[in-house]
Order: sequence, then structure tokens, then C-alpha cells
Amino acid sequence: MKVIKIFKETISDGIGFRYSIYFSGCNHNCEGCHNKETWKGDIGKFLDEEYMNEIVDEINKNSMLDGITLSGGDPFFNPDELLNFLKEIKARTSKNIWSYTGYTFENLLIDSTMKECLDYIDVLVDGKFQKINYYPDLYFRGSSNQRIIDVKESLKNNEVVTLEF
Ligand code: SF4
Repeated sequence: MKVIKIFKETISDGIGFRYSIYFSGCNHNCEGCHNKETWKGDIGKFLDEEYMNEIVDEINKNSMLDGITLSGGDPFFNPDELLNFLKEIKARTSKNIWSYTGYTFENLLIDSTMKECLDYIDVLVDGKFQKINYYPDLYFRGSSNQRIIDVKESLKNNEVVTLEF
């Protein structure tokens, strides 16, 4: 799993001050994608133990942070590595976690590893970017088909529960 870029404090990728990590790799090929340079999974800095420790330290030292956001690319491009990352970052920071993905919530439930990843994610912004549904005024998403999902409530109720902004 490789990291392309990190925003140490941003208000664009979810509620509050967030530490946003952008991973490389995506195979959704959305028309109009603004991040085509992220599609290849072999670009960026490899997330080894030392880099992971650095990220955790930065997060824990910043008391202003409200949470962590995972983006890309698609963080679910490497589900096994994502799961390991999620377990560790959740255990070591206790921050709420938002994740973006080109998959739908329903897609993720089909794959056992991807489904397990959801246990560590609080809010999922799901679905491919659709140029035809692009509206610049949308909060935290690019096109209106994408949903901002309360993952815990959705899993508990067995149906998608969205958050409205
Ligand atoms: S999921 Fe995101 S990064 Fe991947 S092709 Fe679609 S818009 Fe681009």
C-alpha cells in the first residue's frame, strides 16, 4: 500500500479538522476523474512500519484533529493491506475514520475482507464519480449519486443510512 500525499489538516474531506491520507491505486476508470495520476498502484511512498509510526505520531500530537480520512485513488484497491492499516490506525489513534471509495456500500459487503474493513470505518463516501451528476456545491462528494453513509447504523439496520449535509 503506497501513500501519494497527506494533508495534515483539512476541512474538505469530512467533518471538522481531518488528517487525510491519499493512497495510490484505482481501477474504477470514472469518466471525468480528476485524479488519474493516482490510478497506478505502484506510485507513492510505501507504507512500512517506520512511515506508519510517523503518521500515528503526527495524528496523536495534533489535538486539533477531529478525525482521519482515507482517499485516493481508492483505499479499497488493496483490501488486505487496507484492513491491516485500519486495525492499526484505529487501535493507535481512536479517531473517527472516513473513507472514500469508488465501490458502492453494497459492493463492499460481497467481499469478506472489504466487509471487515467497514468495521473500522465510521463514514463511507461511496460510488464512482459520475460526470453527469457533478455539482460543484455538493459537500464532501463530487457527484450526487455518491452517498455519505453512516457505516455503523447501516450495518446495524441492514440498510444504507445516509448523512445529509
Ligand atoms: S474512484 Fe475516484 S480516483 Fe478512482 S477513477 Fe473514480 S474518481 Fe478517479
